[in-house]
Amino acid sequence: MNQLQTKLQMYIGGVWADSASGDVITTINPATNEALATFPRGNQDDVDRAVKAARATFESNEWREILPAERGRMLLRLCQLIREQKDELAHLETLDTGKPLAQALADVEVAARYCEYYAGAADKILGETIPIRSDILNYTIREPLGVTAHIVPWNYPIQIAVRSLAPAVAAGNTVVMKPAEDTPMTALRIADLCEKAGFPAGVVNIVTGYGAEAGAALAAHPDIDHITFTGSVVTGMTIMKTAAQQIKPVTLELGGKSPNIVFADADLDEAAHWVVRSITQNAGQTCSAGSRLLVEESIREEFVAKVASLMSALRIGQGLENAEIGPIISEKQLTRIESYMQVAQEDGAIIRTGGRRHTEAGDGFFFQPTVIDGVKPEGRLAQEEIFGPVLVVLPFTTKEEALAIANGTEYGLVTGVWTSDIHKAHWLASRVKSGQVFINNYGAGGGVEMTFGGYRKSGFGREKGLEALKYYTQVKNVAIKVNG
Ligand code: NAD
Repeated sequence: MNQLQTKLQMYIGGVWADSASGDVITTINPATNEALATFPRGNQDDVDRAVKAARATFESNEWREILPAERGRMLLRLCQLIREQKDELAHLETLDTGKPLAQALADVEVAARYCEYYAGAADKILGETIPIRSDILNYTIREPLGVTAHIVPWNYPIQIAVRSLAPAVAAGNTVVMKPAEDTPMTALRIADLCEKAGFPAGVVNIVTGYGAEAGAALAAHPDIDHITFTGSVVTGMTIMKTAAQQIKPVTLELGGKSPNIVFADADLDEAAHWVVRSITQNAGQTCSAGSRLLVEESIREEFVAKVASLMSALRIGQGLENAEIGPIISEKQLTRIESYMQVAQEDGAIIRTGGRRHTEAGDGFFFQPTVIDGVKPEGRLAQEEIFGPVLVVLPFTTKEEALAIANGTEYGLVTGVWTSDIHKAHWLASRVKSGQVFINNYGAGGGVEMTFGGYRKSGFGREKGLEALKYYTQVKNVAIKVNG
């Protein structure tokens, strides 16, 4: 393992740089509350330099003339470099996010897979010929958008950075990315690997800094052509308003309050395993976390006891020491999660396990895996994204009632259905309002190939799979008069 670099720079136009102001931010290890490194506090000047660099490359003949297959090969080289450095990247990700090393390693492999997947797609971005008349040859071309802006959250820094970078570059765009201020480290390493993979200067630019400064400046920059944002609904709204001022397209991947719907005829051990995993992976700080358990009333007691027992047995601790559940990203987020325990008390809900900070694992921001029963379907616990290892239980007696509860929030990202009755499963799959539905599984093992995105306030636009390429291209129609 290389020695940890403690003074990081950002990457603009192929050059490593400090911020124009010279100001820095310190990133901390949430498992220990100790400083890890400083990185530049980018502002509007830095964003402007990055957008100019990305624009110059996008308009250059060098970039225009690179064959789509060569863009694919660049991404394949990036994939290979990510795999070669997987241990170091995972180590960095664990230090910066706190997540267990095994989960960080899985994230790094998903990042590599995005590069591999979109590498193969780079020379298969096709147009159509559209029959009109015998003297008109009409066809469409899928062109890149130009300079795409990517605003990345702190929960899956490397995965989410590469999730949008890879299709954007495959489609021929140039990228300006702002990682989250809590977790800039792996995105900067990705920039380094892009350079080593032979990306021309200006294709990938990373500006670090705060959301309200660098992030807002990027979203408002007049010379970007698209914004991809993953994060909170509130920030998503702000970005959408900013984009509206300039008619810029946006892809928003916002929060969720995803249900796992468990029927009495399901394999209950399997269901319990995945219910627990879906709310404790990354300490519940996952947009697609299964944060609501909808359970058939006849098995409620047995099933909730099983889930609570699995939750309380999880090893909480340092990500580098093989913990099963790591810390929350920051004191601010920890305090926010804690405030929901007060809501539970006020609502007369029953905390079946957890409910408190975990203080035995050091000075980090740990929270016990928590199960809350007896919540009101319309109350805050059942409606709001808590973004921690907190599962709320909502019983139902019929599939119609399960559907109504499942659809009864303003979100719609993922739904899990657990039953041995395929008819019931499909009945729900065809009626739930969510971008993904998993039957007798949750997540299908990562799913780089699967379309992902929200219904309702979970956002719009789609990431992953071939569908994502549509959001990094625009279609031009060409009609040629031909002499018949
Ligand atoms: P956030 O949405 O504010 O931050 C996400 C990213 O947006 C970061 O890079 C941040 O710097 C940037 N940002 C913030 N304000 C901005 C602005 N005005 N303009 C442009 N960019 C801006 O999220 P947060 O405050 O870190 O977390 C709050 C809540 O958001 C969490 O509790 C959780 O509910 C939700 N969240 C969801 C996801 C997800 O994957 N959907 C990820 C992170 C947070």
